[in-house]
Amino acid sequence: MNGLMMDWPLLVPSILYRAGRIYPEKAIISRHADGTIHRMNYGELEVRVHRLMNALRSLGIRPGDRVATLAWNSHRHLELYFAVPSMGAVLHTINFRLARDQLKYIINHAEDRVVFVDRSVAPLAAALREDIPGVEQFIVMDDRCPGPSALPEPAIDYEDLLAGASERAEFPRLDENMAAGMCYTSATTGEPKGVVYSHRSTYLHAMAGCLADAGALSEREIALPAVPMFHVNAWGMPYSCAMTGATQVFPGSGLIGQPLAELLESQRVTCAAGVPTIWTLLYQHLKEKTYDLSSLHTLLVGGSAAPRWMLERFERDFGIRVLHAWGMTETSPVGTFSRLRSEMLAWSEERQIEYRLKQGIPIAGVETRILGDGGEDLPWDGEHVGELAVRGPWIASSYYNNPEAGAAFTPDGWFRTGDMASIDRYGYVQLTDRKKDLIKRKGEWISSVDMENAVSCHPGIAEAAVVARPDPVCDELPAVLVVRRAGVEPPVEPQDVIDSLAPKFARWQLPLPEDVHFVESLPRTGVGKIDKKVLRQLVAGLSKPPGG
Ligand code: AMP
Repeated sequence: MNGLMMDWPLLVPSILYRAGRIYPEKAIISRHADGTIHRMNYGELEVRVHRLMNALRSLGIRPGDRVATLAWNSHRHLELYFAVPSMGAVLHTINFRLARDQLKYIINHAEDRVVFVDRSVAPLAAALREDIPGVEQFIVMDDRCPGPSALPEPAIDYEDLLAGASERAEFPRLDENMAAGMCYTSATTGEPKGVVYSHRSTYLHAMAGCLADAGALSEREIALPAVPMFHVNAWGMPYSCAMTGATQVFPGSGLIGQPLAELLESQRVTCAAGVPTIWTLLYQHLKEKTYDLSSLHTLLVGGSAAPRWMLERFERDFGIRVLHAWGMTETSPVGTFSRLRSEMLAWSEERQIEYRLKQGIPIAGVETRILGDGGEDLPWDGEHVGELAVRGPWIASSYYNNPEAGAAFTPDGWFRTGDMASIDRYGYVQLTDRKKDLIKRKGEWISSVDMENAVSCHPGIAEAAVVARPDPVCDELPAVLVVRRAGVEPPVEPQDVIDSLAPKFARWQLPLPEDVHFVESLPRTGVGKIDKKVLRQLVAGLSKPPGG
């Protein structure tokens, strides 16, 4: 039909272009590892992105190539967020907290050609160097971490690279369905899976983050992503902020307690986003030391369920609203937000809290379903629990070069999340359990299946199961239940179990000695599978009450 709207592509560079034109003076603030503050503005960001695009071209980067980052939250990382997609290349943000083997797999699987690495993370890149031969160049970003760092070879300095590049770059014509970024997420077992974000999905997701009933980012905000920029584009916040001209404050690696509180205070931050652990540690610190956080109105919490005390006490003690949201790497990530609708404002406080603790309603653009065991739709009555399935323009349709991981995508175009949920008559999603066998510690995954397999290899162990134990600070920790093999002397002790896991897991993923339990047998379901539900209940009884 004629008379239609323009077929105008939704592209990441147009977010930058607008910010540079409309809000050139608005600030972008970063905290270095030594506590010093770096200030720039959107006008300067635009110029530096031009330089970076030219510099990337001089390194031989072409459209479609993958450019990786091993970096904390900073203005330089933001420059990469714009420069790499703007030239048609793909920004691959890497979670450098993963185990060494997983990092090796991810970098090789994505075929990253160059890696931008913070100096504080450079020793890790140096240690990985031999295992990632496809990487042609490392670019070191000096985040002012104290002391010398081992550097991977060959390495050049980020600022030297930019200084040598001209400040006007050509922007190629891009298709909105081209890849802009990618991020790997943990699989239940085996290697991580790559999720690829398009320009279109990134743009629409950023816009959705600005909706008043979602993230409500606007020009008036001073926003701090306390979620790492290697976690699903820091939940899209840097793009939403640039889209609206909001001031952005990047905490570097200073995500814990004191440095975060100081930055929130000194920069008069108005809203911040992070996993529950970040806010638990902040709360504990704020109870010990007084700060003026009168500018801060909202803490967005997601990645794991927000605990009730967090919503209640931040508001009661500091007048800060905690807003609960749900999302996944595969959903860009934001899928649902739990804001009260107007009629709920007249409800009792108790009922309001009950609703705010739910994961919330889908943002406009995202559709939800709950599926029964046979794939049938379950009613939205707040009682029936099924697997949450979603679809929408910023939901993944497959995993990158990984057809075996396709089972999560239904033939009729829905993504099965692996989360178990109910949906009530208002459309509020409430997660009740996780179908996928994964443990989430401080926002990072641990595969219980991989851990079980590794433990079971020990000659003194007959069988083992690993489940999440709720923890007030870490959200979840791995609890290992072990049946000793009869007749093996000396009998296996907790430290033996941990030692046997050490080569295969990152240190932070290892269980604590008190979380290794020896049992006579493991409970089974009717079909003979280990009954993880029973085990989860068992270990939950062992957890301490919420802190704060
Ligand atoms: P990731 O892909 O690492 O972002 O993790 C996504 C998963 O984290 C989801 O599938 C959920 O299992 C969990 N998750 C995210 N947000 C929440 C939340 N608000 N409450 C409970 N679990 C959550």
